[in-house]
Amino acid sequence: MPSSHTTPRQTYQNEKVSVLLPLPLAGAYDYRVPPDLSVAVGDFVSVPLGKRDLKGIVWGGGSNEVDDKKLKNINGLLEIPPLSEDLRKLIDWTASYTLNPPGAVLRMSMSVPSALEPPKTRTAYLPEVGAANADSDSRIRMTEARRRVLDVLADGPPQVAAELARSAGVSASVVRSMADVGLLKSVTLEEQIDFDKPDWNHPRPILSPSQAEAATALVDAVERSVDTEGDAGFSVTLLDGVTGSGKTEVYFEAIAATIAAGRQVLVMLPEIALTTQWLKRFTERFGARPLEWHSDLTGAERRLTWRAIVSGEASVVVGARSALFLPFPNLGLTVVDEEHDSSFKQDEGVCYNARDMAVVRAQLGRNPIILSSATPSLETFVNVQSGRYQSLSLPERHGGASLPEIAAIDMRIEPMESQSWLAPALQEAIAQSLAAGEQVMLFLNRRGYAPLTLCRHCGHRLQCPNCTSWLVEHRLQRKLSCHHCGFSMTPPEECPECEKPETLAACGPGVERLAEEVAERFPQAHCEIMASDTMQSPVSAAALVRDMQNREIDILIGTQIMAKGHHFPYLTLVGVVDADLGLAGGDLRAAERTFQLLHQVSGRAGRAERPGRVMLQTYRPEDPVMEALVSGTRDQFLMAEAEERERHGMPPYGRLAALIISGNEYDEVERVARNLARNCPVEDGVTVLGPAPAPLSILRGRHRWRLLLKARRNSNVRAILRQWLTRVRIRGNVRVQIDVDPYSFL
Ligand code: ADP
Ligand code: ZN
Repeated sequence: MPSSHTTPRQTYQNEKVSVLLPLPLAGAYDYRVPPDLSVAVGDFVSVPLGKRDLKGIVWGGGSNEVDDKKLKNINGLLEIPPLSEDLRKLIDWTASYTLNPPGAVLRMSMSVPSALEPPKTRTAYLPEVGAANADSDSRIRMTEARRRVLDVLADGPPQVAAELARSAGVSASVVRSMADVGLLKSVTLEEQIDFDKPDWNHPRPILSPSQAEAATALVDAVERSVDTEGDAGFSVTLLDGVTGSGKTEVYFEAIAATIAAGRQVLVMLPEIALTTQWLKRFTERFGARPLEWHSDLTGAERRLTWRAIVSGEASVVVGARSALFLPFPNLGLTVVDEEHDSSFKQDEGVCYNARDMAVVRAQLGRNPIILSSATPSLETFVNVQSGRYQSLSLPERHGGASLPEIAAIDMRIEPMESQSWLAPALQEAIAQSLAAGEQVMLFLNRRGYAPLTLCRHCGHRLQCPNCTSWLVEHRLQRKLSCHHCGFSMTPPEECPECEKPETLAACGPGVERLAEEVAERFPQAHCEIMASDTMQSPVSAAALVRDMQNREIDILIGTQIMAKGHHFPYLTLVGVVDADLGLAGGDLRAAERTFQLLHQVSGRAGRAERPGRVMLQTYRPEDPVMEALVSGTRDQFLMAEAEERERHGMPPYGRLAALIISGNEYDEVERVARNLARNCPVEDGVTVLGPAPAPLSILRGRHRWRLLLKARRNSNVRAILRQWLTRVRIRGNVRVQIDVDPYSFL
């Protein structure tokens, strides 16, 4: 197998090495390589730590800090292919960039401890030679049951006792006794995952001229990285195509070229569990499924997938953000689909942006990376403008479909009935679409029935006991729940404050409440809700998508979970119930994100022959976001947004890092926050905002304060932060979480 460019690994014998453990410790620890062992950088080894036996990675030569006499020996070398150079460098890089210990980052690569154990085995049985003619051997009794067992095994593969007994309709003791008398022989089977290899040469669709042009450029980038040594192999390409332009088909060609070259491919997608359509298309294109990596895998699937990746057998893996740290020995291409999606950012534990770190991994491994989107992030847009990233554009929808017509409904002048969330203009449009036998999507980015419950008598609002957030009513499940910590309770009969019965009222709509109105107004239509809590599993999500495709659903109501990826040919009307929702709160990316989300949702309309239209219900039709959506002027919008950011020195023109101070005691948290503020860095071009209680001032019972560091683009934020933290003592259960390039300001 041709492997990607790596320098030969340094090997060690009879000397000290440093071993990185997947723990949040300060760094790698020194160990001695015993005389009978030879290890190399990247090897998986087991080492003693205190009384425990832990598994880690040989990270490099030993330091000279530990007294040789105190040095312990490595226990042994694991039979697992080594961690590749690009990944080792990525771990160090991420640790340094996010100010985490490298072991905390390594833990994301070694997230499946059981995968490091020898593979599980099972005993299976085969007929012994001559068993079929055992009738003639008087020493062996050939019963009817024994005969059936032999028949079952006749031409098939070995089977384990339980399975074999079941197929033959006998008890397991029959199988065992046959082994004892020598009619069956046992073999040991290693547990393994069943998967077919994707076939790059499988029949493919015919690409349109503009698709073919983009595909050729991507394939060239792949081939260049295979053929050249050195940095020329690295490239970042934005695949910038309108919704429905066939971006997926185009990057599939780059995937094909990578498989053909014998290298591995990583595709990162947001909300992976819901990408049945993507998996289906992949399977159609390559004749086999890719391996998946996401939170819904079982323990065994996780273990086997991890092993198939580290052994290099898995050629294509599709996963959520955590897939970035998987141990590919031979990664040749990364695709980040919907690259603008904020779910690539993790803001707990190690705060990292998987899209950005994927670019770093590609650079370290000298591979191409493709970022795909119809609404690129401002960061990527600016990188294209400045020439750091290449860009390929697909300006038209595939198959001659036209882009939908987008109109704003000015809610300030619409005659709205009370307790109604659908403007008359939108109601009329829905009726028209239904009459034409077409489908409708109503988008409201709010799960549950109502975002707030309040007492009509005393005004009390039901709040989460652990967080600064209102409890959201989920009427279908008969509960009130907190969307931050998962707390939930049965709705009370009376107000917890004034104790008056039946005074609690729902305020504002969520998707469930909207469904109620829709059912009243359009009783003939079949309506379904698509939200993360109403779909219990990927299976029910897939069923919903299928029903929508088969036109068994007339009106689909949902949250952002239905905004992307899906292709429903008969969906011609998209109604956005509250277009202003994401603009409230005004965080740095509010406008950008609202534009992306609404553009994405709009892109579901009219993707086939029938033209689509989109209606945005808004109280601020003059907002630049609404104007850009209506007039289809994405680039002007991004340009204006970029200028605005540049003027204020905000990302991507300036740098931000958030400090989130949290703890059980309010006073302690405030004290540390104020202390940090008093000791803040004083440097040209660096400003510190805060301290202030976080908007989400209590989360899971912990009080939270925030500080925000703002610096110039070229400042060394890491060094500044590191020094700053050394000046303040942090005690007790107070924690200071650092979020470099934050996306959340809550
Ligand atoms: P995007 O990701 O850009 O929104 P998709 O890749 O989902 O677009 O393509 C939209 C639809 O058009 C999909 O159903 C896809 O299978 C189809 N399609 C795109 N390109 C082709 C092609 N060259 N031949 C046949 N079908 C295509
Ligand atoms: Zn809560």
